[in-house]
Amino acid sequence: MRKEYLPTIGLEIHIELKTRSKMFCSCKNDSQEKEPNVNICPVCLGHPGTLPVVNKEAVRKVIKTGIALNCKIAPWSFFERKNYFYPDLPKGYQISQYQKPLCENGFLIIFGKKIRIRRIHLEEDTARLVHPQGADYSLLDFNRAGIPLMELVTEPDMVSAQEAKKFAQELQLILRYLDVSNADMEKGQMRVEANISLSQKLKVKSKEWGTKVEIKNLNSFRAVERAIEYEIERQKEILDSGGEVIQETKGWDDKRAKTITQRIKEEAHDYRYFPEPDLPPLEIDTYYLEEIKQEVPELPQEKRIRFLQEYGIAETKIETLISNKELTEYFEKSSSELIRWVQDKNLKDKKGKLLEMLANYLIGDGIGLLKGKPLKEKLYPITPENFAEFITIIEEKNLTSRMAKILLEQMFKTSKDPSDILKEKELVQVSDETEIQKLAERIIQDNPKPVKDFQSGKENAIQFLVGQMMKITKGKVNPDKAREILIKLLKGSK
Ligand SMILES: [Zn+2]
Repeated sequence: MRKEYLPTIGLEIHIELKTRSKMFCSCKNDSQEKEPNVNICPVCLGHPGTLPVVNKEAVRKVIKTGIALNCKIAPWSFFERKNYFYPDLPKGYQISQYQKPLCENGFLIIFGKKIRIRRIHLEEDTARLVHPQGADYSLLDFNRAGIPLMELVTEPDMVSAQEAKKFAQELQLILRYLDVSNADMEKGQMRVEANISLSQKLKVKSKEWGTKVEIKNLNSFRAVERAIEYEIERQKEILDSGGEVIQETKGWDDKRAKTITQRIKEEAHDYRYFPEPDLPPLEIDTYYLEEIKQEVPELPQEKRIRFLQEYGIAETKIETLISNKELTEYFEKSSSELIRWVQDKNLKDKKGKLLEMLANYLIGDGIGLLKGKPLKEKLYPITPENFAEFITIIEEKNLTSRMAKILLEQMFKTSKDPSDILKEKELVQVSDETEIQKLAERIIQDNPKPVKDFQSGKENAIQFLVGQMMKITKGKVNPDKAREILIKLLKGSK
């Protein structure tokens, strides 16, 4: 019989903070700089005799994150040296925090479940090691050395790959809302490590946990999910065949879709942490803390709840809207304009429908207009007010989706008011029935084959005829109306 196991998953997440300068020197903080070794100085190169100075902004951003994640903020804290040798660490130690992290005992709720956060601390990033393919040497780029790095450690409260992925996604969103980091995983601004162990369900009560394996190099949400799923299966197979899981650090190979052993077992005491003598302790007074609290904006979860109550649009749409800070801001501005239009134009009973339409257009066509450009630039030519007016015009003039699209494109190109474009472009819908009938007669005459198909029972042939109608009128006819009239004529002349 196959035994039942309960996975236990904890995450350690490193986040590069968005600050102007590095953690302990005034070099530029730019991890994406392509030219190697340009943002460097004696401090971040670890030259003897240099002294570090704490970056105030980095401390502030860690505390801000801690507040947003319901942590207790330490009234005082200090830095320590984490000693180990590696070529990317010129001092022979990394300045980090061990005994007194800035933030502790927080939580984040995902899928309605509380995931506890053990700690968030501040440290410095290491240099980047580059291994040119086929070469028997490695290269070092110190642009990244000394960039402020925040490390967040969760309790092992997750039980599936999906939960871990969701946690990382929600955290990324919060970090972006707080503007503490761009947290782009592909760019290495947010790096996830997962600790995974399996326990036999029967033994969970007696707290007999399995041996944990750590997986590094998870640089996409997909990698987080796949690597954890893979590791759970791997450990299951070992345990089922009577083997023993060994404590080790593994890397995730995305191409081969497997985890690979990197090193076996290491403990905190291996690093010989000791207080950094060159930096004074940090004291966080209550005024300072209050000030940062005021800077924490409305967070994604609060937004979800408020959007649902205020706008009543579908939850999946809310999710898309709030997944992007700029899009959310645009939607909020535009929807308050829309509500104003709705009142002015006496469309009150259509409020819900129009808000839904606004969300649809923003998520669909609004974003699709200019591919590959950041959203701010994309929507910039259209003011939120004009976007709101555009929605009311669709409703009032009963525009077809094709006409609406043309109108939106023109608004985008010219930044003009939609009502002005409408007048200029004569984007007026053909609604006169006799006119539509005339057009329909012409189309029937010009397309004998589809007409015959339709009359011999191939009902789909009507699509082609409606399409023709849209084509010659440049989308100015309501397709439902066109279909109705075409069918009437075809059935009548049978
Ligand atoms: Zn420097």
